[in-house]
Amino acid sequence: MEETRARLHALRAEAAERLVGLGDARTDVVDAARGANVDDEHDPEGATIAFERAQLEALAADARRRLADVDAALARLDAGTYGTCAVGGEPLAAARLAARPTATTCVRHASS
Ligand SMILES: [Zn+2]
Repeated sequence: MEETRARLHALRAEAAERLVGLGDARTDVVDAARGANVDDEHDPEGATIAFERAQLEALAADARRRLADVDAALARLDAGTYGTCAVGGEPLAAARLAARPTATTCVRHASS
């Protein structure tokens, strides 16, 4: 269990770091947009910047979701429900948890 906790904390730190990095990248894009003083709608460069910003937003949303997943897994670890299927209540296979430490259901009950 301590090994699992350590792994989850490592994943959490990784996602948090990515989120911070994406925040920096977004600031750069916004600065570039301001410096260029472009019209997002009609300037091709503006469209590129808008696209880049949207990409960064998507990546940040992904990292935030990952953080939430890891936090939920840590909460389940504290509650003693970690590693059991949220649908059927059966224990998850060790291989599944090794591949996906934040898994909440067994393969059979996984919706995605
Ligand atoms: Zn299940």
